[in-house]
Amino acid sequence: LPRASVHQLTDADVAARLRPPSSDDDKYSQGVIGIVAGSATYPGAGVLCTGAALRTRPGLVRYAGTAADGVRAAWPEAIVTEGRPSDAGRVQAWVAGPGMGTDDDARSVLSEVLATDLPVLVDADGLTMAAEQPDLIRRRSAPTVLTPHDREFARFGSDVGEDRIGAARRLAADLGAVVLLKGDATVVADPDGAAFVNATGTPWLATAGTGDVLSGIIGALLATDLPAAEAAAAGAHLHGRTGQLAAERGPLISGDLVRRLPDAISRVRGVP
Ligand code: AMP
Ligand code: MG
Repeated sequence: LPRASVHQLTDADVAARLRPPSSDDDKYSQGVIGIVAGSATYPGAGVLCTGAALRTRPGLVRYAGTAADGVRAAWPEAIVTEGRPSDAGRVQAWVAGPGMGTDDDARSVLSEVLATDLPVLVDADGLTMAAEQPDLIRRRSAPTVLTPHDREFARFGSDVGEDRIGAARRLAADLGAVVLLKGDATVVADPDGAAFVNATGTPWLATAGTGDVLSGIIGALLATDLPAAEAAAAGAHLHGRTGQLAAERGPLISGDLVRRLPDAISRVRGVP
């Protein structure tokens, strides 16, 4: 593997990647994200992921998972489709996996999303299914971002071990995908060899649903024209800053991250 350098993004680096709308923009020109997350068992994953995507402020969020009623009730701003992802209308990037389950329907929906030539972020249940069929990832031509924690990472064949950057780089090279390995120090490896170590966050993020929020944030950035590894690293940075901001008010729950995202974006931008 190339011994490419390890980067650490600053607030200014991330701010430069969060493009505010200009007078030329409309809702389609600021990124359209499609989300397959949540289920009857875990509607919250769909609600949190969709909320995080909306609050990262792409132009449009389309939801195509099986927690449609819950998502519709929580987020009137999202465009909810009851059909397949391919019926959802034009999308520029997909998020697939959080709380979607691993049954045959979920497998077929994941395959459909991975068969597109769009950037796809795969998390959680999506990772469990992808680890059983890694060729679904390898044969993609568009960028893929995988966001495993340590146990999800191990499903791809080997434990993380001590060298987290090395482990993420090896899986990224094997699958030809950006690998964001979550933890107290999140790392991102691009299959080209570049790597990022995240500088933000708080142990208060160790609670249910924060990973679903991370997926929504990164998905919204992927739907702009950012390179996939930069979208992943910038999303991790923003997620960590949001956690720090929410924790200033006391013990946080993952919904607080969604609510504090606008303030965190302003803080990253240096807006007082
Ligand atoms: P998940 O494992 O999918 O629920 O995602 C958990 C999120 O919380 C990820 O963004 C992790 O990086 C973050 N996280 C978990 N534990 C810690 C910790 N001890 N310190 C900082 N961040 C953490
Ligand atoms: Mg998770």
